[in-house]
Amino acid sequence: MSLKGKSAVITGSNSGIGLGVAEYLASQGCNVALNSFTDNAEDHDLAEKIGKEHGVKAVYIKADMSKGEECRALVETAKEKLGSVDILVNNAGIQHVAAIDEFPPEKWDAIIAINLSSSFHTTAAALPIMREAGWGRVVNIASAHGLTASPFKSAYVAAKHGVVGLTKVTALETAKEPITCNAICPGYVLTPLVEAQIPDTMKKYGMEKDEVIEKVILERQPSKEFATTAQLGGCVAFLCSDSAEQITGTTLSVDGGWTAL
Ligand code: NAD
Repeated sequence: MSLKGKSAVITGSNSGIGLGVAEYLASQGCNVALNSFTDNAEDHDLAEKIGKEHGVKAVYIKADMSKGEECRALVETAKEKLGSVDILVNNAGIQHVAAIDEFPPEKWDAIIAINLSSSFHTTAAALPIMREAGWGRVVNIASAHGLTASPFKSAYVAAKHGVVGLTKVTALETAKEPITCNAICPGYVLTPLVEAQIPDTMKKYGMEKDEVIEKVILERQPSKEFATTAQLGGCVAFLCSDSAEQITGTTLSVDGGWTAL
């Protein structure tokens, strides 16, 4: 499927799933705006490399997704630099694992802001641009934790359930327009976000890394395999394709059977 001539903003895309999605969309001819809260030479180099490799416009835009006005400015800047914002992928996210009574309130606030509220702000900024262009796709990267819960992830689970709710409302508000909004719910994907959880889990259970991956992290993923960032890129591209025109307000699980349990 070709996305030639379209332009996408992918939040939180200098690493992990966001980067995989940006690379996949670029491979389909889509211009891409990469984003994170840093402004390093490597961030800009990454965009340049993707642009050259796939012959598309690719830019890096610094914006902190914990701040509403920066989320909105990201979308406006992407429109200026790429000419349009046809596809919005809300992907930026962080994690913190602790029991509710020990959960640092500032971590709760940061997770709700970055994993949930940012999608409200970027969507609010992108919809008028999509309406003017007469076409738009919003894809929210939620999680299996947007459909089910695990202990010690209160803020993350609350935020991801919120993302699924926001997805449904966005879809209903745009149902009569050529705009769709869906959420992808990945199970575990081996990215820096997941890698960072391994050392603590090794300590907690007294296990080696391989054992932690098989018995703890992938415990609820029946396939016993991680999903890949390229597979997620392919799912985003599908939701942006003509075949998915009537798919809106729903979730697409990419979790090796987790939510079928
Ligand atoms: P990651 O840590 O590799 O990437 C997160 C991205 O968000 C990075 O680019 C980071 O720079 C960016 N980011 C963090 N804080 C930001 C901020 N304040 N402003 C702008 N950007 C910010 O993690 P990932 O695993 O690729 O996660 C990406 C998304 O996928 C998250 O929303 C996560 O919840 C979701 N997800 C991941 C998994 C998984 O197993 N890895 C599973 C389900 C859902």
